[in-house]
Amino acid sequence: MSETVKDEPVKIKAKDRMAKPRNEMPLNDPAKRVTNFEEVPIGYTLDQAQAEAFRCIQCKKPDCIPGCPVGIDIPAFIKLVEEGDVAAAARKIRETNFLPAACGRVCPQDKQCELVCIVGKKHEPVAIGNLERFVADYEREHKLDRIPKIEPDTGKNIAVIGAGPAGLTAAYELRKRGHNVTVFEAFHRGGGVMVYGIPRFRLPLEIIDEDLKLLEDMGVNFVYNMVIGKVFSIEDLRDKEGFDAVFISTGAGLPKMLGIKGENLNGVYSANEYLTRIYLMHANDFPNYPTPIVQGEKVAVIGAGNTAMDVLRTAKRLGANPVCYYRRSREESPARTEELEHAEQEFINFKWLSNPVEFIGDETGAVKAVKCEIMELSEPDESGRRKPMPTGKFFTDEIDTAVFSLGCDVNPIITDVTPELTKNKWGIIMVDKKTYHTSMKGVFAGGDSVTGGATVILAMGQAKEAAKYIHDYVMGNFDYELAIPTDPIAPGVVWEGRFEKAHREPKKH
Ligand SMILES: Cc1cc2nc3c(=O)[nH]c(=O)nc-3n(C[C@H](O)[C@H](O)[C@H](O)COP(=O)(O)OP(=O)(O)OC[C@H]3O[C@@H](n4cnc5c(N)ncnc54)[C@H](O)[C@@H]3O)c2cc1C
Ligand code: SF4
Repeated sequence: MSETVKDEPVKIKAKDRMAKPRNEMPLNDPAKRVTNFEEVPIGYTLDQAQAEAFRCIQCKKPDCIPGCPVGIDIPAFIKLVEEGDVAAAARKIRETNFLPAACGRVCPQDKQCELVCIVGKKHEPVAIGNLERFVADYEREHKLDRIPKIEPDTGKNIAVIGAGPAGLTAAYELRKRGHNVTVFEAFHRGGGVMVYGIPRFRLPLEIIDEDLKLLEDMGVNFVYNMVIGKVFSIEDLRDKEGFDAVFISTGAGLPKMLGIKGENLNGVYSANEYLTRIYLMHANDFPNYPTPIVQGEKVAVIGAGNTAMDVLRTAKRLGANPVCYYRRSREESPARTEELEHAEQEFINFKWLSNPVEFIGDETGAVKAVKCEIMELSEPDESGRRKPMPTGKFFTDEIDTAVFSLGCDVNPIITDVTPELTKNKWGIIMVDKKTYHTSMKGVFAGGDSVTGGATVILAMGQAKEAAKYIHDYVMGNFDYELAIPTDPIAPGVVWEGRFEKAHREPKKH
């Protein structure tokens, strides 16, 4: 790479930097990749990363930083990549983000930092996510030291419930401050949805395992196969088991269904169950592992969000010809553009404007067909949204498996047995918006359990904030009377409001 700031003493003009085309992420060939679970993006080389870093104009007021829920100093790490000091770039990212390899892969950058990147006003935005991924992979491959400075022991004990991104981030932040942290996890391993939801071809398992090992090396304790709310209650942890504070980060794992006829037939799954069987229980390797998955060739996937794309692409890799049924059109699909495009590249069929109304079973109680109503879109309403309208026309497709991918609600295991914990009508745990303190003294909550299904980075951002106040609480510097749990922090309110204002379509070259 010749054109770097280091090699070029003459100051390079911003317009020359911006004029360079974005370095697209190299991908594995679709025909080959549907035959295995290997990661689809290949990753940048150092030359590609430096070429992409060159496109950043080092804005004086960089919009990308507030666009990141954990506030990574994006221009600083990109400059270090441009200069070829990737180890320093890794240290810079690690100041604020403890899961950079995962975030570089799964964060919706197109809706966050890259959406507001100043270069994106006239050109394609800087590929911040690809650069973050490159730096994190370099750090891992070169086995750079990742253990942060840990403050002297405070003697305070903190219980974290749930080992997803929110719980792991809280554990990291609190351990750094010198507290003893114990993470209680219902499953036999940590990672949360990053392990049992997000497929391996988007987020390899070894990445999560390294992050879990980092926490273990820092001295965080993990207790697996422990369902809080069944074995111990929150009160037990706080009042009998010696924990000075509790952080609830149990996610949103209760699947939504449509409530249509035939949903209970054999072969009808929720996306959660389907993905968990495969990615957590290894059902694709049955009988080497004890959990099976019953899946034929004709798989119907209901919904067209990111989870639906994950199910479709997983089913394809297991040899099916999956079809996506969605009651709106492609334009209204809630999936990230990249996810939708990757699914299309992988020869997946979509039936837009098709609303499943019934599953039909055979004599053994197994699903054999799906009946759909054909929809049409209304004229745009005041918000500009076009509603799907029934046409009264139907079609029926033969299927042998169906998977619902319609999102999830918060699991009530803890809230049902903890009346002191205020929740709203959707079961979402209510917290004080600033401190994440719940209605129970010394009990905080964050992540999907207080937002409903959102994103990895949003869960992490909340856990990081909560950790500051948990620290204050256990050190006796927190006035919990002032922490009033109010409405849940809906991601739409927190994020869309900010980004709607900033929204613009980047111009293509
Ligand atoms: C299929 C799928 C794909 C996704 N893809 C993306 C993506 O590409 N990018 C993105 O940013 N986000 C994605 N998400 C969303 C993202 O994974 C979540 O927003 C994020 O994992 C929330 O983190 P969390 O820590 O709050 O909860 P979770 O990740 O759900 O972790 C909660 C943990 O708590 C444990 N737990 C639950 N109840 C108890 C209990 N009573 N006792 C003990 N432990 C308990 C659970 O077993 C789990 O391990 C996806 C979600 C799904 C379902
Ligand atoms: S907004 Fe874009 S161009 Fe500006 S500093 Fe951030 S990444 Fe670089």
